[in-house]
Amino acid sequence: MKVSEYITKLIPYVPGKPIEETQRQYGINEVYKLASNENPLGPSPLALEAIKKNLHLLNLYPDGSCFHLKQKFAEHYKFDADQIIFGNGSDEICDFLVKVYCEPGDKILTSHRAFDTYRLSAQSARCDTTLVPQTADLKFDLEKFKDHWTPKHKLIFLTNPNNPTGTYNTKSEMDDFLSFFGNRDDVIVIIDEAYFEFVRAKDYPDSHEYVRKFSNVLSLRTMSKVYGLAGLRLGALFAHAEITGLINRVRKPFNINSLMQAAAVAALDDQDFVQKTQNLTWQGLDYFYAEFKKMGINYVPSQGNFLLFDTKQDSLKIYEGLLKKGIILRPVRNYDLPTYLRMSVGLEHENQKAIAAIKEVLK
Ligand SMILES: *Cc1c(COP(=O)(O)O)cnc(C)c1O
Repeated sequence: MKVSEYITKLIPYVPGKPIEETQRQYGINEVYKLASNENPLGPSPLALEAIKKNLHLLNLYPDGSCFHLKQKFAEHYKFDADQIIFGNGSDEICDFLVKVYCEPGDKILTSHRAFDTYRLSAQSARCDTTLVPQTADLKFDLEKFKDHWTPKHKLIFLTNPNNPTGTYNTKSEMDDFLSFFGNRDDVIVIIDEAYFEFVRAKDYPDSHEYVRKFSNVLSLRTMSKVYGLAGLRLGALFAHAEITGLINRVRKPFNINSLMQAAAVAALDDQDFVQKTQNLTWQGLDYFYAEFKKMGINYVPSQGNFLLFDTKQDSLKIYEGLLKKGIILRPVRNYDLPTYLRMSVGLEHENQKAIAAIKEVLK
């Protein structure tokens, strides 16, 4: 049967290489994965406790309305419960948005080197993606979005800070952008803040303020990064109630499992764990910056829990060399960065091992 080219030409997302596969392939035991921006401290301990307490309820369907979780998020983030909607990871929310707002033939607009999930969601729904060129320092060029937007572009995806670059847009850049795109009824602006909790820049804007101010601005957060719950999957969307009402129509009733619901309620209360993760991340980044400076390696200052650096040669060779030493980093050729690697911040000894291995392989 003939299948749409949108599907046959779809290149699936390539996740970071798993630890076990690397152990098998290279015959080594000691393997460190700094490839997927996961939390090296594990899951929040309070979340783990909540999961254990709820294990005996696995025979029951989860609460389709996520009542307690929604109440918790509403209280924590100061929104009404009907302004919040959950997805099985924020990637599922991207699918919802394309389903609700795009007909085949419509398009989405984002930046070159933006996180790839948006394009994959669009393409699965037979929609094209327009990529706005980045600035020379690998930032989203928000000024240029106006030149590339057409009425066919129903959704604009911004990632702040962005993965894989770690760069961010300032409050004044975002204010300017929204003075043009905000409060319109012909386009939706989604601001993906998966790394919100890791940002140290003083001029970084909180998208929740924009959601309150503009009817067409949506904010996306995740439990996968600072809360350490990537394996259970939860993304949260904050938006005006008319918008969450539309999304609820395409959401399957049991998309958030019961363990995740219990874990997320507990994790939001675990702000000690958030602080611990932040401190570990910031110390790790500062360590990487200092080591790369000593080695004369160019890197992109990061507001995330990862760092992009330039090997100045085919990065796949360096990637392979590091794998043999038990260090898994992430090549970013698919983002047109053929000489760069992305490295997540790990535990202190993992960071040291990674730096030592990079030194040897680059020698
Ligand atoms: C990791 C990440 C997410 C989180 O995705 P989930 O589906 O919630 O795990 C979202 N956006 C960006 C840019 C990310 O890097």
